[in-house]
Amino acid sequence: CDQTPLQAVLLEIGRELESCKGEGNVADYIPELGNVNPDKFGIHLTTLASEHFAYGDTEEKFSIQSISKVFSLALVFEREGERLWQRVGVEPSGNPFNSLSQLEYEAGIPRNPFINAGALVICDHLISHCSMPKQTMMGFFRTLAGNPLIGFNQRVYESEKAHSYRNRALINLMKSYGNITNDLELVLDLYFFICSIEMTCRELAQAASFLANSGVNPLTRQQVVSSSKAKRINTIMQLCGFYDEAGEFSFKVGLPGKSGVGGGIMAVHPGKYSIAAWSPRLNAKGNSCLAMKALELFTTRTKMSIF
Ligand code: GLN
Repeated sequence: CDQTPLQAVLLEIGRELESCKGEGNVADYIPELGNVNPDKFGIHLTTLASEHFAYGDTEEKFSIQSISKVFSLALVFEREGERLWQRVGVEPSGNPFNSLSQLEYEAGIPRNPFINAGALVICDHLISHCSMPKQTMMGFFRTLAGNPLIGFNQRVYESEKAHSYRNRALINLMKSYGNITNDLELVLDLYFFICSIEMTCRELAQAASFLANSGVNPLTRQQVVSSSKAKRINTIMQLCGFYDEAGEFSFKVGLPGKSGVGGGIMAVHPGKYSIAAWSPRLNAKGNSCLAMKALELFTTRTKMSIF
């Protein structure tokens, strides 16, 4: 793509969205997440040819929250292979990210790895596979983003731990069905840790780029996951990345993507680019109002959606 138009499109979108800044509310069920400036907005795109285009607060760290679920899935799927799908499904849930109801009538098997229950099963696998799962995850993010300084936010981690009633209910229910093998506290602790990792839009777009590149990290040329696994992870993002708003995101944006309650959204166009947008105010489904709008405008104006 010609550089000037892409940069110009981001600039135009950023300016246009200034007028929508008051929409939605910052997540406060994890109290520490409420302590951000709600009107921050950034969008960063990186192509597989290592071109970078950005607008707004793209160098500011934010809590990646559920976006982390894509990366923990990638690590575990690569190690566990197809057996993974015996304990977690690949169907859209059509329910909120922290919903308990399907677990009950589906015998403790979460619908997919991107709702909280599914991500807890993935964390259980991580503990079984790695002797130091926190270090392994952190190393994974640092390598993918090309930044050894990526870290986590202790206050967010503790805040989530202190208000973890839903996640505790989910893991206990799954345990009762025999779908959690390690110590519950260890699994929860790892989950909160991964959710509290902080990254910038630029780092997140870079970290996602292996999914646009048939599983190969474009920075290191290392095969992170096989190309078939990259295809499958993208498919799950397409179908399940936005909980009960996955259809809406697909419909409006037309890219596989994943959101988090910190207000971030990352998305990929296989073979072309990866993109991350962030703005803390969320809609009722827990997805960033402005980030979603920005991506919708971006793929509509550039026609750079997968459809
Ligand atoms: N850490 C959050 C939770 O477990 C993640 C939710 C999200 O980003 N959708 O509730």
